[in-house]
Amino acid sequence: MSYDNLSGRTAVVTGAASGIGAAVALRLAARGARVALLARRADRLETVVEKIRAGGGQALAVVADVTDDASVRAAADAVHEAFATVDLVVNNAGVMLPHPVDDGRLDEWQRMIDTNVTGVLRVLRAFTGDLVAAAAEGRTADLVNVSSIGAHVVFPTYAVYGATKAAVTQLSQVLRAEFGPRDVRVTNVEPGLTETELADHIDSDELREQIDGMLGTTGRLAAEDVADLVGYVTSRPRHVNLRQVVVLPTRQV
Ligand code: NDP
Repeated sequence: MSYDNLSGRTAVVTGAASGIGAAVALRLAARGARVALLARRADRLETVVEKIRAGGGQALAVVADVTDDASVRAAADAVHEAFATVDLVVNNAGVMLPHPVDDGRLDEWQRMIDTNVTGVLRVLRAFTGDLVAAAAEGRTADLVNVSSIGAHVVFPTYAVYGATKAAVTQLSQVLRAEFGPRDVRVTNVEPGLTETELADHIDSDELREQIDGMLGTTGRLAAEDVADLVGYVTSRPRHVNLRQVVVLPTRQV
């Protein structure tokens, strides 16, 4: 089998309605995986699914909210019914709401923690059995968590977002110790500034302009650049695990 070939693999990608998740779903499908796309916006998921099918790929849209236990469980049932056991999970759904801590936006903190951290855990719980079972059968099995360079680098006012991503990075690190001995690979991806809809949810013109200013200085990655990386790490030979990948626009230091 070619190392570039993901045919025979079955993937779940969360946050696949836009940005990095949509690009990852397209890339995995283009490499031959069948892909279940999870997010809350049905219409946006369907658009990506149609693109995959138009290219000859196999895809399924599953409306799911990672902040809701029952929704994630129902999504897992739908994926299992359509595709049976999953062997590639990309935990990508996330939100970034960067008001300064002085503003005391508990609503934003809770939303980020529930989506970026607990959401990742809900998805993990739903598909851990699949990954372990797939690996036990001799298949390649991957858990890919999309963290952020914000897990390491200080961006003023991004304290809580950075903390959620630091949690994802540490989670990935420790999970390798649990999963590696059972042949399940864990990869933590830390992108830098990437052109997506992530900043659209910020309800402050000033904070959005701050991001535009940063992008003007550093340039930005395309979502496809990050997707390319996910396609690469998941198509390595089974005994090779890229555990931590940082990908930045060249001018972002
Ligand atoms: P987007 O806003 O374009 O994508 C976020 C995705 O997550 C959407 O598909 C959205 O779909 C989904 N999502 C949000 N909340 C939920 C929820 N509760 N349940 C299910 N799905 C949800 O931004 P990005 O592509 O940039 O974000 C993807 C990941 O990349 C995030 O984890 C982000 O933190 C990370 N990242 C992004 C960087 C950047 O510069 N853009 C840099 C570093 C990391 P829907 O609204 O339909 O649910």
